[in-house]
Amino acid sequence: MPYRIAVVGIGKIARDQHLPCIGKNRNFALVAGVSRSARIEGVPTFENLSALKASKLKVDCVALCTPPAVRLAMAREATDCGWHLLIEKPPTPTVGELLALEAYARRKKRVLYATWHSRYNKSVDMAKTRLKGRHVDFLRVTWKEDVHKWHPGQAWIWQPGGFGVFDPGINALSIVTKILPEPIFAESATIEVPANAATPIGADIRFKRGDGAPANLSAVFDWRQKASEIWEIEVGTRDGLRLHLKNGGSILEVNGKTAHKAVLHEYEDIYARFARLLKARKSEVDPSPLQLVSDCFMLGKPVVVEPVS
Ligand code: NAP
Repeated sequence: MPYRIAVVGIGKIARDQHLPCIGKNRNFALVAGVSRSARIEGVPTFENLSALKASKLKVDCVALCTPPAVRLAMAREATDCGWHLLIEKPPTPTVGELLALEAYARRKKRVLYATWHSRYNKSVDMAKTRLKGRHVDFLRVTWKEDVHKWHPGQAWIWQPGGFGVFDPGINALSIVTKILPEPIFAESATIEVPANAATPIGADIRFKRGDGAPANLSAVFDWRQKASEIWEIEVGTRDGLRLHLKNGGSILEVNGKTAHKAVLHEYEDIYARFARLLKARKSEVDPSPLQLVSDCFMLGKPVVVEPVS
């Protein structure tokens, strides 16, 4: 029997990816939506989780597609209802909330799957394999896009817990933390915050290796990119290997030559993984991208810039 799933927060990513991918996966049956305003054709929609619970509809799991700042209480409520959880990235606004949520789900014996969609890509897997056991001494992440194109009309991104440019930037860091053979650490950052916002529009970050060996490791995130987006990660190793992940990580170049061009099916893979986790009754939570973002804020120098329109 398919897992009966409800989607919570019917915004851009729920409509772009979750609803279509659930529709294509025979392991899941969409039984409800939870939204303050939107409706999903063909299934009942409830204003909140309490109303869904009160309906007595049979639900096995929920996909939380709301902004991160409001997820913890919703996740706990869903867990209390006995439902397993898939949550969008970034999982929560702070590491503390994520650890608390992980412990809560464990105590209640529910599956918690904290997704990082940018990790689902064969080029990324190949980069990880190539870097295994090597000494990385160079990293340059360039993640630039137009906020108005990718987050049209969204107010939450500029509010505390909305992450600002770290909302896309954490996608790059989810790839970095997957492929590097050893963890890296934030060293310093300049964080540009618009005068009328609580979250950054740009960030320039330096990282360091854990062993103190010299390395040139950096990332630049920018939401003011007007031309087409640049989503690239370059990695160099001491023994001369050069990897270049382009196009959000889907194209891998090795020493200047194209090694793989992945066809993207990130959310299809996410739902395939969720089905496996549900079957095995296993959770999957990796806080490392969120930890790096949190550390950038801890060590970063804030600079006030032009208000955002
Ligand atoms: P969005 O379009 O603003 O949708 C979020 C939905 O959450 C809203 O439509 C709203 O739906 C619901 N919601 C519940 N409580 C809310 C609150 N207090 N404030 C605002 N919305 C609330 O955002 P999104 O782009 O889908 O992003 C949602 C999550 O998915 C984020 O964590 C984001 O990083 C991640 N994500 C987004 C994209 C993308 O392309 N946009 C890609 C990958 C991942 P109701 O009105 O239905 O309650």
